[in-house]
Amino acid sequence: MTFKDSLKLLKDLAIREHLTVDDPFYSCPLSSDGPYYDDLEPECNCGATKHNAEVEKMFIETLLAFEDEIENIHFEYLNDL
Ligand SMILES: [Zn+2]
Repeated sequence: MTFKDSLKLLKDLAIREHLTVDDPFYSCPLSSDGPYYDDLEPECNCGATKHNAEVEKMFIETLLAFEDEIENIHFEYLNDL
């Protein structure tokens, strides 16, 4: 498994579903089982949207940092030739 594959797996494991409980009234409005608001733009109230945005941000930042690291190693190798 490559670094990118491992990182992608970690990202997928870190992604949260919106809260769903037995009584749909108390589920997150963005969950598949959430309450239906006819006149409102539904917003996440369980924290999953914010959490998942942080996970996506960390995934991209870590991937970019890794690619910079690989590039530096490549240049160091070329300098040694
Ligand atoms: Zn939510």
